[in-house]
Amino acid sequence: MKALKLVAPGKIELRDVPVPKISDNEVLVRIAAAGLCHSDLHILHQDDSWPFFGTTMGHETAGFVESAGAGVNGIKPGDAVLVRAVWSCGTCRSCRNGRGNACSINGSRTQFPLTPGLAVDGGMAEFIKVDARHLNGIGALDPVAAAPLADAGLTPMHVINTVRARLADDATVVVIGIGGLGHVALQILAAVSNSQIIAIDADATRVNHATSYGADLALLAGEDAATRILAETDGFGADIVIDFVGVQPTIDLARQIVAPEGAIRIVGLGGGSFPFNASLEGEVLPWGVNVQRPYGGTEVDQTEVLQLADDGKVAVQTDTYPLADAQRAFDDLANGKLKGRAVLIPG
Ligand code: NAD
Ligand code: ZN
Repeated sequence: MKALKLVAPGKIELRDVPVPKISDNEVLVRIAAAGLCHSDLHILHQDDSWPFFGTTMGHETAGFVESAGAGVNGIKPGDAVLVRAVWSCGTCRSCRNGRGNACSINGSRTQFPLTPGLAVDGGMAEFIKVDARHLNGIGALDPVAAAPLADAGLTPMHVINTVRARLADDATVVVIGIGGLGHVALQILAAVSNSQIIAIDADATRVNHATSYGADLALLAGEDAATRILAETDGFGADIVIDFVGVQPTIDLARQIVAPEGAIRIVGLGGGSFPFNASLEGEVLPWGVNVQRPYGGTEVDQTEVLQLADDGKVAVQTDTYPLADAQRAFDDLANGKLKGRAVLIPG
Protein backbone atom coordinates (compact mmCIF):
# COMPACT_ATOMS: atom_id res chain seq x y z
CA MET A 1 0.00 0.00 0.00
CA LYS A 2 1.00 3.67 -0.30
CA ALA A 3 1.96 5.51 2.90
CA LEU A 4 3.24 9.07 3.39
CA LYS A 5 6.40 8.78 5.48
CA LEU A 6 8.26 11.50 7.35
CA VAL A 7 11.79 10.65 6.22
CA ALA A 8 13.98 13.59 7.32
CA PRO A 9 13.57 17.17 8.58
CA GLY A 10 11.35 18.95 6.05
CA LYS A 11 10.98 15.83 3.89
CA ILE A 12 7.97 13.59 3.25
CA GLU A 13 7.80 10.72 0.76
CA LEU A 14 5.02 8.50 -0.54
CA ARG A 15 6.38 4.95 -0.20
CA ASP A 16 5.17 1.41 -0.88
CA VAL A 17 4.91 -0.49 2.39
CA PRO A 18 3.17 -3.74 3.45
CA VAL A 19 -0.45 -3.56 4.62
CA PRO A 20 -0.23 -3.78 8.46
CA LYS A 21 -1.10 -7.10 10.13
CA ILE A 22 -3.60 -6.86 12.97
CA SER A 23 -3.63 -8.69 16.29
CA ASP A 24 -6.70 -9.93 18.18
CA ASN A 25 -7.74 -6.56 19.60
CA GLU A 26 -6.99 -4.56 16.50
CA VAL A 27 -8.94 -3.38 13.46
CA LEU A 28 -7.66 -2.76 9.95
CA VAL A 29 -9.27 0.40 8.54
CA ARG A 30 -9.35 1.18 4.82
CA ILE A 31 -8.70 4.92 4.90
CA ALA A 32 -11.13 7.18 3.06
CA ALA A 33 -9.79 10.53 4.30
CA ALA A 34 -6.86 11.93 6.27
CA GLY A 35 -6.89 15.51 7.51
CA LEU A 36 -3.79 17.68 7.42
CA CYS A 37 -3.19 19.66 10.63
CA HIS A 38 -0.88 22.60 11.17
CA SER A 39 0.80 20.34 13.75
CA ASP A 40 1.95 18.21 10.79
CA LEU A 41 3.94 21.23 9.61
CA HIS A 42 5.49 21.57 13.08
CA ILE A 43 6.35 17.84 12.97
CA LEU A 44 7.76 18.18 9.45
CA HIS A 45 10.15 20.87 10.63
CA GLN A 46 11.56 19.09 13.69
CA ASP A 47 15.32 18.73 13.63
CA ASP A 48 17.51 15.62 13.37
CA SER A 49 16.90 14.73 17.01
CA TRP A 50 13.20 13.93 16.33
CA PRO A 51 12.83 10.26 17.34
CA PHE A 52 10.03 9.32 14.94
CA PHE A 53 11.42 9.52 11.39
CA GLY A 54 10.00 6.68 9.29
CA THR A 55 6.51 7.04 10.77
CA THR A 56 3.47 7.40 8.51
CA MET A 57 2.01 10.87 9.06
CA GLY A 58 -1.58 11.83 9.80
CA HIS A 59 -3.61 11.98 13.00
CA GLU A 60 -7.03 12.82 11.52
CA THR A 61 -8.29 9.60 9.98
CA ALA A 62 -11.66 8.24 8.85
CA GLY A 63 -12.59 5.25 6.73
CA PHE A 64 -14.24 1.85 6.65
CA VAL A 65 -13.45 -1.28 8.63
CA GLU A 66 -11.67 -3.79 6.39
CA SER A 67 -11.22 -6.56 8.97
CA ALA A 68 -11.29 -6.99 12.74
CA GLY A 69 -9.26 -9.25 15.06
CA ALA A 70 -10.81 -12.28 16.76
CA GLY A 71 -11.13 -10.43 20.09
CA VAL A 72 -13.00 -7.42 18.69
CA ASN A 73 -16.72 -7.13 19.44
CA GLY A 74 -19.32 -4.80 17.95
CA ILE A 75 -17.28 -3.71 14.93
CA LYS A 76 -17.69 -5.33 11.53
CA PRO A 77 -16.28 -4.93 8.02
CA GLY A 78 -17.85 -1.98 6.20
CA ASP A 79 -18.54 0.09 9.34
CA ALA A 80 -17.70 3.79 8.87
CA VAL A 81 -15.28 4.85 11.61
CA LEU A 82 -13.18 7.71 12.92
CA VAL A 83 -9.73 6.81 14.29
CA ARG A 84 -9.20 8.88 17.44
CA ALA A 85 -5.97 10.87 17.65
CA VAL A 86 -5.32 10.34 21.37
CA TRP A 87 -4.50 6.69 22.08
CA SER A 88 -4.95 6.35 25.83
CA CYS A 89 -4.58 3.08 27.73
CA GLY A 90 -8.09 3.11 29.19
CA THR A 91 -7.08 1.75 32.59
CA CYS A 92 -4.59 4.14 34.27
CA ARG A 93 -5.59 6.69 36.93
CA SER A 94 -6.03 9.51 34.35
CA CYS A 95 -8.04 7.32 31.99
CA ARG A 96 -10.29 6.05 34.79
CA ASN A 97 -11.01 9.68 35.66
CA GLY A 98 -11.97 10.49 32.06
CA ARG A 99 -8.73 12.30 31.26
CA GLY A 100 -7.37 10.08 28.51
CA ASN A 101 -5.48 13.03 27.00
CA ALA A 102 -3.27 12.90 30.11
CA CYS A 103 -2.93 9.09 30.05
CA SER A 104 -0.04 8.15 32.32
CA ILE A 105 0.82 4.99 30.39
CA ASN A 106 0.86 6.39 26.86
CA GLY A 107 2.42 9.77 27.67
CA SER A 108 4.28 11.32 30.58
CA ARG A 109 7.04 13.76 31.50
CA THR A 110 9.49 11.26 30.06
CA GLN A 111 7.53 9.71 27.18
CA PHE A 112 5.96 11.31 24.11
CA PRO A 113 2.19 10.55 23.92
CA LEU A 114 1.22 7.64 21.69
CA THR A 115 -0.31 9.59 18.83
CA PRO A 116 -0.84 8.15 15.36
CA GLY A 117 1.13 10.14 12.79
CA LEU A 118 3.67 11.17 15.42
CA ALA A 119 4.87 8.23 17.48
CA VAL A 120 3.11 5.41 15.56
CA ASP A 121 1.96 5.01 11.96
CA GLY A 122 -0.92 7.35 11.15
CA GLY A 123 -3.61 7.86 8.54
CA MET A 124 -1.92 9.31 5.45
CA ALA A 125 -1.94 5.88 3.84
CA GLU A 126 -4.33 3.36 2.33
CA PHE A 127 -4.75 1.37 5.57
CA ILE A 128 -4.15 1.88 9.29
CA LYS A 129 -4.17 -0.67 12.11
CA VAL A 130 -5.68 0.53 15.35
CA ASP A 131 -6.81 -0.92 18.67
CA ALA A 132 -10.61 -1.25 18.47
CA ARG A 133 -10.89 0.97 21.59
CA HIS A 134 -9.68 3.98 19.60
CA LEU A 135 -12.51 3.95 17.05
CA ASN A 136 -15.77 5.91 17.00
CA GLY A 137 -18.59 5.00 14.63
CA ILE A 138 -19.51 7.92 12.35
CA GLY A 139 -22.80 6.54 11.03
CA ALA A 140 -23.89 8.43 7.94
CA LEU A 141 -21.32 11.25 8.24
CA ASP A 142 -19.12 11.69 5.16
CA PRO A 143 -15.61 10.44 6.11
CA VAL A 144 -14.06 13.47 4.34
CA ALA A 145 -15.95 15.86 6.61
CA ALA A 146 -15.54 13.59 9.63
CA ALA A 147 -11.78 12.92 9.49
CA PRO A 148 -10.76 16.43 10.70
CA LEU A 149 -13.02 15.99 13.71
CA ALA A 150 -10.33 13.68 15.15
CA ASP A 151 -8.30 16.80 15.97
CA ALA A 152 -9.73 19.99 14.45
CA GLY A 153 -12.99 18.97 16.16
CA LEU A 154 -11.64 17.20 19.25
CA THR A 155 -9.19 19.85 20.45
CA PRO A 156 -11.55 22.85 20.20
CA MET A 157 -14.30 20.78 21.87
CA HIS A 158 -11.92 19.94 24.71
CA VAL A 159 -10.73 23.52 25.10
CA ILE A 160 -14.29 24.82 25.16
CA ASN A 161 -15.28 22.21 27.73
CA THR A 162 -12.51 23.52 30.01
CA VAL A 163 -14.23 26.94 30.01
CA ARG A 164 -17.84 25.76 29.71
CA ALA A 165 -18.88 27.21 33.09
CA ARG A 166 -17.51 30.61 32.05
CA LEU A 167 -19.66 30.85 28.90
CA ALA A 168 -22.42 32.98 30.45
CA ASP A 169 -24.85 34.83 28.19
CA ASP A 170 -23.11 38.13 29.02
CA ALA A 171 -19.55 36.74 28.70
CA THR A 172 -17.16 37.54 25.85
CA VAL A 173 -14.96 34.88 24.25
CA VAL A 174 -12.20 35.78 21.80
CA VAL A 175 -10.96 33.19 19.29
CA ILE A 176 -7.58 33.97 17.69
CA GLY A 177 -6.75 32.06 14.46
CA ILE A 178 -9.73 31.01 12.33
CA GLY A 179 -8.04 28.14 10.48
CA GLY A 180 -8.68 24.39 10.74
CA LEU A 181 -9.26 24.38 14.50
CA GLY A 182 -10.53 27.94 14.87
CA HIS A 183 -13.40 27.72 12.39
CA VAL A 184 -14.66 24.63 14.20
CA ALA A 185 -14.26 26.36 17.58
CA LEU A 186 -16.52 29.22 16.42
CA GLN A 187 -19.22 26.73 15.41
CA ILE A 188 -19.00 24.86 18.72
CA LEU A 189 -19.15 28.10 20.72
CA ALA A 190 -22.20 29.25 18.74
CA ALA A 191 -23.86 25.86 19.34
CA VAL A 192 -23.24 25.60 23.09
CA SER A 193 -23.40 29.23 24.28
CA ASN A 194 -25.00 32.63 23.88
CA SER A 195 -21.77 34.42 24.78
CA GLN A 196 -20.46 37.22 22.57
CA ILE A 197 -17.93 35.61 20.16
CA ILE A 198 -15.12 37.74 18.69
CA ALA A 199 -12.89 36.20 16.00
CA ILE A 200 -9.44 37.44 15.02
CA ASP A 201 -7.20 36.39 12.15
CA ALA A 202 -4.27 37.87 10.24
CA ASP A 203 -5.84 36.84 6.91
CA ALA A 204 -8.65 39.06 5.58
CA THR A 205 -10.46 36.14 3.88
CA ARG A 206 -10.57 34.22 7.16
CA VAL A 207 -11.89 37.32 8.91
CA ASN A 208 -14.61 37.73 6.27
CA HIS A 209 -15.83 34.15 6.74
CA ALA A 210 -15.78 34.18 10.54
CA THR A 211 -19.34 35.45 11.01
CA SER A 212 -20.66 32.60 8.84
CA TYR A 213 -19.14 30.19 11.41
CA GLY A 214 -20.81 31.96 14.32
CA ALA A 215 -18.66 34.96 15.29
CA ASP A 216 -20.60 38.08 16.32
CA LEU A 217 -17.65 40.29 15.42
CA ALA A 218 -14.56 39.53 13.30
CA LEU A 219 -11.38 41.62 13.42
CA LEU A 220 -8.15 41.68 11.48
CA ALA A 221 -5.15 41.04 13.73
CA GLY A 222 -3.11 44.18 14.26
CA GLU A 223 -2.30 47.02 16.53
CA ASP A 224 -5.84 48.17 17.18
CA ALA A 225 -7.31 44.69 17.92
CA ALA A 226 -6.68 45.02 21.66
CA THR A 227 -8.23 48.50 21.79
CA ARG A 228 -11.29 47.31 19.85
CA ILE A 229 -11.86 44.36 22.18
CA LEU A 230 -11.42 46.40 25.32
CA ALA A 231 -13.95 48.90 23.90
CA GLU A 232 -16.37 46.02 23.12
CA THR A 233 -16.17 44.90 26.75
CA ASP A 234 -16.44 48.38 28.36
CA GLY A 235 -12.78 48.23 29.30
CA PHE A 236 -13.21 45.06 31.37
CA GLY A 237 -11.58 42.62 28.93
CA ALA A 238 -12.58 39.24 27.50
CA ASP A 239 -13.63 36.49 29.89
CA ILE A 240 -12.04 33.82 27.70
CA VAL A 241 -9.27 34.04 25.08
CA ILE A 242 -8.49 30.97 22.98
CA ASP A 243 -5.29 31.29 20.95
CA PHE A 244 -5.09 28.83 18.04
CA VAL A 245 -1.84 30.35 16.77
CA GLY A 246 0.56 30.72 19.71
CA VAL A 247 3.01 33.12 18.05
CA GLN A 248 4.37 36.03 20.09
CA PRO A 249 1.88 38.64 18.76
CA THR A 250 -1.14 36.44 19.55
CA ILE A 251 0.10 35.54 23.03
CA ASP A 252 0.79 39.22 23.72
CA LEU A 253 -2.72 40.05 22.50
CA ALA A 254 -4.23 37.39 24.79
CA ARG A 255 -2.43 38.94 27.76
CA GLN A 256 -3.58 42.47 26.81
CA ILE A 257 -7.28 41.62 26.47
CA VAL A 258 -7.99 39.00 29.12
CA ALA A 259 -10.28 40.19 31.93
CA PRO A 260 -9.49 39.86 35.64
CA GLU A 261 -10.37 36.28 36.71
CA GLY A 262 -10.53 35.39 33.01
CA ALA A 263 -9.13 32.37 31.19
CA ILE A 264 -6.47 31.99 28.49
CA ARG A 265 -6.10 28.79 26.50
CA ILE A 266 -3.01 28.55 24.29
CA VAL A 267 -3.59 25.79 21.75
CA GLY A 268 -1.29 26.92 18.93
CA LEU A 269 2.30 25.75 18.89
CA GLY A 270 3.68 28.88 17.22
CA GLY A 271 6.69 29.22 19.51
CA GLY A 272 5.59 32.36 21.41
CA SER A 273 6.39 32.60 25.09
CA PHE A 274 4.58 33.66 28.17
CA PRO A 275 6.51 35.56 30.85
CA PHE A 276 5.36 35.40 34.44
CA ASN A 277 6.22 38.05 36.94
CA ALA A 278 5.16 37.53 40.55
CA SER A 279 5.30 41.17 41.57
CA LEU A 280 2.94 44.08 42.16
CA GLU A 281 4.55 46.29 39.55
CA GLY A 282 5.12 45.23 35.97
CA GLU A 283 2.53 42.46 36.19
CA VAL A 284 1.95 40.49 32.99
CA LEU A 285 -1.60 39.36 33.81
CA PRO A 286 -4.58 40.79 35.67
CA TRP A 287 -5.41 39.12 39.00
CA GLY A 288 -6.91 35.66 38.97
CA VAL A 289 -6.30 34.70 35.35
CA ASN A 290 -6.26 30.98 34.61
CA VAL A 291 -3.89 29.86 31.82
CA GLN A 292 -3.82 26.41 30.23
CA ARG A 293 -1.88 24.71 27.47
CA PRO A 294 -4.38 22.03 26.44
CA TYR A 295 -3.56 18.82 24.61
CA GLY A 296 -6.04 17.02 22.33
CA GLY A 297 -9.15 15.85 24.12
CA THR A 298 -10.95 13.03 25.84
CA GLU A 299 -13.32 10.34 24.60
CA VAL A 300 -16.23 12.45 25.86
CA ASP A 301 -14.98 15.49 23.90
CA GLN A 302 -14.75 13.32 20.76
CA THR A 303 -18.25 11.96 21.20
CA GLU A 304 -19.67 15.44 21.82
CA VAL A 305 -18.17 17.02 18.70
CA LEU A 306 -19.27 14.06 16.56
CA GLN A 307 -22.78 14.57 17.94
CA LEU A 308 -22.67 18.28 17.02
CA ALA A 309 -21.63 17.28 13.49
CA ASP A 310 -24.41 14.71 13.34
CA ASP A 311 -26.87 17.41 14.46
CA GLY A 312 -25.66 19.66 11.64
CA LYS A 313 -24.24 22.24 14.08
CA VAL A 314 -20.58 21.69 13.14
CA ALA A 315 -19.41 21.27 9.55
CA VAL A 316 -15.73 21.29 8.60
CA GLN A 317 -14.85 23.32 5.53
CA THR A 318 -12.56 21.02 3.52
CA ASP A 319 -10.11 21.30 0.60
CA THR A 320 -9.48 17.80 -0.82
CA TYR A 321 -6.27 16.49 -2.44
CA PRO A 322 -5.30 13.03 -3.70
CA LEU A 323 -2.84 11.39 -1.26
CA ALA A 324 -0.33 11.43 -4.13
CA ASP A 325 -0.49 15.27 -4.03
CA ALA A 326 0.32 15.48 -0.32
CA GLN A 327 3.28 17.77 -0.91
CA ARG A 328 1.01 20.32 -2.60
CA ALA A 329 -1.40 20.16 0.33
CA PHE A 330 1.45 20.73 2.82
CA ASP A 331 2.66 23.67 0.72
CA ASP A 332 -0.81 25.19 0.44
CA LEU A 333 -1.26 24.92 4.22
CA ALA A 334 2.14 26.50 4.84
CA ASN A 335 1.37 29.33 2.40
CA GLY A 336 -2.08 30.10 3.83
CA LYS A 337 -3.87 29.09 0.61
CA LEU A 338 -6.54 26.83 2.13
CA LYS A 339 -10.20 27.73 2.60
CA GLY A 340 -10.54 25.26 5.46
CA ARG A 341 -8.96 21.92 6.36
CA ALA A 342 -6.90 20.05 3.76
CA VAL A 343 -7.99 16.41 3.51
CA LEU A 344 -5.96 13.76 1.65
CA ILE A 345 -7.86 11.05 -0.21
CA PRO A 346 -5.99 7.78 -0.95
CA GLY A 347 -6.53 5.73 -4.08
P1 NAD B 1 -4.22 26.57 10.46
O1 NAD B 1 -3.00 26.88 9.72
O2 NAD B 1 -5.34 25.86 9.77
O3 NAD B 1 -4.84 27.92 11.08
C1 NAD B 1 -4.06 28.92 11.66
C2 NAD B 1 -4.81 30.24 11.49
O4 NAD B 1 -4.10 31.25 12.21
C3 NAD B 1 -4.90 30.72 10.04
O5 NAD B 1 -6.23 31.11 9.74
C4 NAD B 1 -3.95 31.92 10.00
O6 NAD B 1 -4.33 32.90 9.05
C5 NAD B 1 -4.04 32.42 11.42
N1 NAD B 1 -2.90 33.23 11.86
C6 NAD B 1 -1.58 33.02 11.58
N2 NAD B 1 -0.83 33.98 12.17
C7 NAD B 1 -1.69 34.79 12.85
C8 NAD B 1 -1.53 35.95 13.66
N3 NAD B 1 -0.32 36.46 13.91
N4 NAD B 1 -2.64 36.52 14.20
C9 NAD B 1 -3.87 36.02 13.94
N5 NAD B 1 -4.08 34.92 13.18
C10 NAD B 1 -3.00 34.32 12.64
O7 NAD B 1 -3.78 25.76 11.78
P2 NAD B 1 -4.59 24.67 12.64
O8 NAD B 1 -4.44 23.34 12.00
O9 NAD B 1 -5.93 25.21 12.96
O10 NAD B 1 -3.69 24.61 13.97
C11 NAD B 1 -3.58 25.74 14.80
C12 NAD B 1 -2.49 25.54 15.83
O11 NAD B 1 -2.91 24.62 16.84
C13 NAD B 1 -1.18 24.99 15.26
O12 NAD B 1 -0.09 25.60 15.92
C14 NAD B 1 -1.27 23.51 15.66
O13 NAD B 1 -0.01 22.90 15.73
C15 NAD B 1 -1.92 23.63 17.01
N6 NAD B 1 -2.59 22.42 17.50
C16 NAD B 1 -2.49 22.16 18.83
C17 NAD B 1 -3.17 21.08 19.36
C18 NAD B 1 -3.10 20.81 20.83
O14 NAD B 1 -3.55 19.77 21.27
N7 NAD B 1 -2.56 21.71 21.63
C19 NAD B 1 -3.94 20.24 18.55
C20 NAD B 1 -4.02 20.56 17.19
C21 NAD B 1 -3.36 21.65 16.67
ZN1 ZN C 1 -4.26 5.75 30.50
